[in-house]
Formats: sequence, C-alpha cells, structure tokens
Amino acid sequence: MQKPPHNPHDLSQHDLEDILGTIDQEVRQRFGEGKVANYIPSLAKVPIDRFGMALVTIEGSVHTVGDARERFSIQSVSKVHTLTLAMDAIGDALWTRVDREPSGDPFNSLIQLEYEKGIPRNPFMNAGALISADVILSNYDDPEAALLDFMRARSCNVEIGIDETVADCERDTGYRNVALANFIRSFGNLENNVEAVLEFYYRQCSLSMDCVDLARSVQYLADGGHCSSSGTQVTTAEAATRINSLMMTAGTYDAAGDFAFYVGLPAKSGVGGGIVAVVPHVMSICVWSPGLDEKGNSALGRYALHRFTRMTGLSVF
Ligand code: GLN
Repeated sequence: MQKPPHNPHDLSQHDLEDILGTIDQEVRQRFGEGKVANYIPSLAKVPIDRFGMALVTIEGSVHTVGDARERFSIQSVSKVHTLTLAMDAIGDALWTRVDREPSGDPFNSLIQLEYEKGIPRNPFMNAGALISADVILSNYDDPEAALLDFMRARSCNVEIGIDETVADCERDTGYRNVALANFIRSFGNLENNVEAVLEFYYRQCSLSMDCVDLARSVQYLADGGHCSSSGTQVTTAEAATRINSLMMTAGTYDAAGDFAFYVGLPAKSGVGGGIVAVVPHVMSICVWSPGLDEKGNSALGRYALHRFTRMTGLSVF
C-alpha cells in the first residue's frame, strides 16, 4: 500500500482528482451494499447505485467525483446547521438543556431521556435536535427563513429549498419524534409547543441539497468558523471547535466509535445517505450514497471516507 505523504496537510502533495477517481471506481464496484431508508416512500425510491463526493478546501476550491451534483434529502446532516444557529442564539445556556456525551444508542432512542430527566445526551440525536429547533423558534423572528438563509448563504446556492413531499411524509410517519418531543416537554425542556418544534424539525430534515452544497455548507467548521466561499465569519472559532468535537463523538449515532476507528474525522450523517466530514484547517467533505448500514449511516459513504483518510493521511489521529 502506498504511504501517505509526510505532511498530509500540504495539499500540493496530493493529486486530489486522482484520489477521488480511485475512490469512485472502488465504490462503484461495491454498489448494492447497505439498504436505502424505507420509512418513507420518497426516500425508499432513491436508486441505491449512486455515489457522489465533494471536497471544498478552506480556500474554497472544489473537487468532485460521481453524482456530486445530484440532490438528496439531507435529513440529520441538518442537525449541524441548527446546532450552529442555536449556539449562536443562546451561547452556553444551551448546555443546561442538552448534554455533550455520546449516546451509544440509536438516533431516535427514547430510553435515556427517562432517567436523564428530559436532557438529551447530545445535539445530534433526534431528541437533542428538537432542543436546537426549540431554541431557534424562541430566538429568531422567522425561524424557517433564518435556516434557509443560512443554508443558501453557506452553500452559495440560492436555489436550496425544502422538498415538500419529504416534509409531508416526515410529518405522517414521525411517531417516534412526536413521542420524543412530548416526553421532553413533560420535563419542561421545551419552550414552544410540541407541534411547532416538530414541524421545524421535519422541515430541516427535508432540505434537498447536493454534495457540493453540503460540503460548502460546513466549510466554516474546517476554518475556525470562517467560510471563504461566502466571505463570512459564520461563528466563533471556539464554537466551530466544539461542533467538530461533538461530530466526532456523536455525529454518526451509535457508530461514532466505529467512525473514529475507520475514518478519523468529525462527521455527521443523515438517513438520506449523506455524510459531511471535516478535516480541521484543511477542507470540508461531503459524500453521498443512499445504501445505509444497520446504524443508519451510508455504508459506501463511510467506505469512501475511510479510503480518503487512508490514502491522504488526513485522519485527525
Ligand atoms: N427524519 C429522520 C428522523 O427524524 C432523520 C433521522 C436521521 O437522518 N438520522 O427520524
């Protein structure tokens, strides 16, 4: 196996197009691994033989391969963006309402909430994301516009929007999320009414974006809160560091340990098959392939990220 360069952070040492081409070839030979999410029809009908990957360096140059410009449902990847908005709105007060520990339980688990008195384990479980949604509802005049503006500005794409069919299905099938929100509310840890919080959550999950949009949307996490693509200091360097830490320990649900082991980058996944990952001080990444493993993470997305960090030496470890 080829040894990664001595200083992997120096991007001139890598042929990124070549690396992406190799990963694309390998992934396409493995099409069929995993299962497409089937809890709603609009996700179930996405073909499994899709793979896209986009890299956005902190200077803003973009490298892509495969289906990197095909839109998909971002689902729980949106929890990164809503956490950023919630942290910006109320700062450290957020941590009285949600914890910062890995859960070791599935993303939609109810179990810890009972004995932890309505304080979700972390902002990336569904329960924790409902807290971020609640904070946004309490602190932004037009919460949905704030989220859409944030996504469009970060991605430099004004066409980003919500897939209404997905949003309708989320609402129709969101039984566990309804249970989670009511349970949290019963402990007094939601300020807004349950229906409003759930509606915001369903709509954030239903955003439709492609790999380039999503990789750009988290560029600020690779560069101390700064996004060169939009020329904005999006959040503080401290907030960006903290969000990366949370992604590392909890961004891929109860597979966060496995991700650290095989990939070694802060990452956040969604059941649409997208995963964003951050190489601190170097680049942001998005991979997409709809086949999910048993933990709800893209099986080939994880493989692609694994190959990427091994070929480049860009794991944080
Ligand atoms: N809409 C999904 C849910 O709330 C999102 C879950 C996910 O992407 N992990 O169950």
